[in-house]
Amino acid sequence: MSNVIPSSVPADAFAFVEGALDRADHLRDAPDALAALWPKAQVVLLDDDGRALADDTQHLFPVTGDTLGGMPANAVFLGVRDGQGWFAARAATVDIQAPQRIDLRAAAATWTAFDASVFAQARAVLHWHARHRHCGVCGGDVQFVRAGWLGRCTQCGSEHYPRTDQAIIAAVTDGQRLLLGRQAGWPPKRYSVLAGFVEPGESLEQTVAREVLEESGVRVHACRYLASQPWPFPGSLMLGFLAHAHPDPPVAGDELEDVRWFDVDQVRAGLARDWANPMLADDDPGIALSPPISIARWLVERWLAEYGGAA
Ligand SMILES: [Zn+2]
Repeated sequence: MSNVIPSSVPADAFAFVEGALDRADHLRDAPDALAALWPKAQVVLLDDDGRALADDTQHLFPVTGDTLGGMPANAVFLGVRDGQGWFAARAATVDIQAPQRIDLRAAAATWTAFDASVFAQARAVLHWHARHRHCGVCGGDVQFVRAGWLGRCTQCGSEHYPRTDQAIIAAVTDGQRLLLGRQAGWPPKRYSVLAGFVEPGESLEQTVAREVLEESGVRVHACRYLASQPWPFPGSLMLGFLAHAHPDPPVAGDELEDVRWFDVDQVRAGLARDWANPMLADDDPGIALSPPISIARWLVERWLAEYGGAA
């Protein structure tokens, strides 16, 4: 029985949250059922750089189990939709030539929300396979079982589960302005909300306060969770917050080149620009913002909706 809860945000709010694939955990231990799904199943093939095989129009290369014959080594069962199975496999393990390959960021901007979400799932789990071929306990070889969702050490028997690295991402406001920073390697004048990884032993609220303080010197006094986004570059989960802070003067920490408060008009103008081609002259004080596939941009939009007043 499928039990897929829709995301708390619309599928077009940002990428990888469509969630319409029933992961059907009970089938992972049912090889006969998986074998029955295989002939008509869609197989997402990824190269070892995490790019998907694509057709002439840069969309998902249509490959079924029938086309491939038997199930390749370490194929991963992704789930079921409308009775059709979905699997992921390394392109290197099959004899298939595709016209093109496409990376996940490009696919997220052009594919359907569903296809991009399936690609994200496939990329994350195959990346985990690639980085966990040996046991972290004894160094023995890991064998993947449960249709790709469990690694078991062939030497000591330890079990290894897919990794997801939690990170917070926060729209920080002093009630009137929005705190945005930029990293040195970003396109000119690109600013974004602050983000950082959760450390062991930390609550999400503590991470928000610590990261914002480390990166900007600004003190957060409250925060509220809004929404999350899988971010498989290579294996993160972004947890989006709206945070309230004291109006401290920002001072860039080690990770940022610049961090500042921006007012409503500056943020609104930034959102109105073409993010990919913002056309800002060197002496233009305006800013560009993150691509629409990211929860980062959505958080900025949410902040503006709450604090921007009537446009
Ligand atoms: Zn081991």
